[in-house]
Amino acid sequence: MKRIAIFPGSFDPFTNGHLDVVLRGLTLFDEIIVAIGDNSSKSRYFEVGLMVEKINLAFQDEPRVRAESYKGLTSRFANAVGAKSILRGLRNTTDFEYENTLAQANKYLNPLIETVFIITDPKYAAISSSIVREMYKYGADITPFLPYRI
Ligand code: ADP
Repeated sequence: MKRIAIFPGSFDPFTNGHLDVVLRGLTLFDEIIVAIGDNSSKSRYFEVGLMVEKINLAFQDEPRVRAESYKGLTSRFANAVGAKSILRGLRNTTDFEYENTLAQANKYLNPLIETVFIITDPKYAAISSSIVREMYKYGADITPFLPYRI
């Protein structure tokens, strides 16, 4: 049976830190779906459709990865695509506190799905979507942080 994982997140935008988590995740899983949560109550800067397109472009030579958007519960989306694992990245203790709560909630919602964490490569530890987004808003060149052109 194929080992399928979803890598859910806002990806506003998807960064080289996220890319590293996916590439390293491919040593654990046969297929990874980068899943952009399309949550209407949460406003975002880069449109979901644009980001799906850019992520698919970044992985155009890697057929084991694709991007999709989803609405509603992450654990339900995992079920719908046949994923038994939720992949997430960890940079620091702040991430840990949040990820711990999230993983407990997902475990409650679906005990059959495991959350799997990949610890950031120190090279990417300081990259966060929110900082990259701020830089972009104020006209800085963010291409060094992204695996595609924006
Ligand atoms: P969310 O809004 O769900 O936290 P993000 O798009 O900010 O979504 O992040 C998705 C996942 O990627 C999270 O698990 C986050 O901790 C992880 N992540 C973000 N940036 C990095 C990075 N530079 N290195 C490793 N993991 C990261």
